[in-house]
Amino acid sequence: MSFAQIKGQDFAIKNLKKFIQTGKVPPAMIFYGPAGVGKAKIALAFARALNCQNLGADFEPCEMCQSCKQIEMQTHPDIIFADYAYQAALLKEEVDDQQNIKIETVRSLTTASQQKAVAAKWKVFIIDKAERLVPAAANALLKFIEEPPQNTVWILISSKRETMLSTIKSRCQSISFAPLSTQIITEILQDNYIEKDLAQKAAVFAEGSTENAFLIASLLEDFAPLDRDASFATQVALNLPRTLAQARPKVNIILDMLAQKIHKNWLNEQDEKTKNKLAKLIQDFVFYKKALKQNVAPQMLAEAALVKAENSNINIQEIL
Ligand SMILES: [Zn+2]
Repeated sequence: MSFAQIKGQDFAIKNLKKFIQTGKVPPAMIFYGPAGVGKAKIALAFARALNCQNLGADFEPCEMCQSCKQIEMQTHPDIIFADYAYQAALLKEEVDDQQNIKIETVRSLTTASQQKAVAAKWKVFIIDKAERLVPAAANALLKFIEEPPQNTVWILISSKRETMLSTIKSRCQSISFAPLSTQIITEILQDNYIEKDLAQKAAVFAEGSTENAFLIASLLEDFAPLDRDASFATQVALNLPRTLAQARPKVNIILDMLAQKIHKNWLNEQDEKTKNKLAKLIQDFVFYKKALKQNVAPQMLAEAALVKAENSNINIQEIL
């Protein structure tokens, strides 16, 4: 995927193209913004552009040369995209079991960064979910991003820059990625064969993130066949996956959708007493979100939250 195919990130792309044009590439960058707005795609397009053997006049990678193809296939020896899949393969573990970025993963990258480039003009090391670096891993990374060898670039991708170590942040140039508009999210979902009505409904609650939007669209599809009656909250809970790892992100997004609706009602509410009730309800949802991070059963939590919202006159059947 070239820069031109990535929607809604013109500002970040313009900055990155300037680095390519001038050859003044920051040795370490943080790409930050909501999940699912194109940070990883752009990091890889940037790696291709830096190494393309046939770079276009507009700094677009050709997508045809050996370097572009190898980076696309993630087989290029000098460009490593370290996400949970990379770590799972490295540690011979399941991808679903990865919760954070461990020191072994960072060591694997730093070791590679010290070796002579096999084929690339620029070595590029990308760490996905960099906010999940454990402190030991972040500390192990520090001196490498501070004094990287020539023509080496580190890109840390993060949807929670604010939680990252300040020692890391201060050594990286931050590149901000904007939340996507409802319109662009709808288009991206439709490009992925999701029908317009569903795409639009999902986009409204997605908070600028296609990752959220895809999750919401799949949830709405799951719940579409459910009976719209008094047992709706229970049916939703029963239709959630049984495993903690699969249910948790779905419940998290349900809580977010309900909280958005409650917040919207709170903003529009004129009656003081009702407004106070809604404010309290928002507090309850903050608590539910915290409980979800603990090991409380997600299904139970979802049902409790839905019933609570219903009791406060939130039309949950309209949302889900
Ligand atoms: Zn190329």
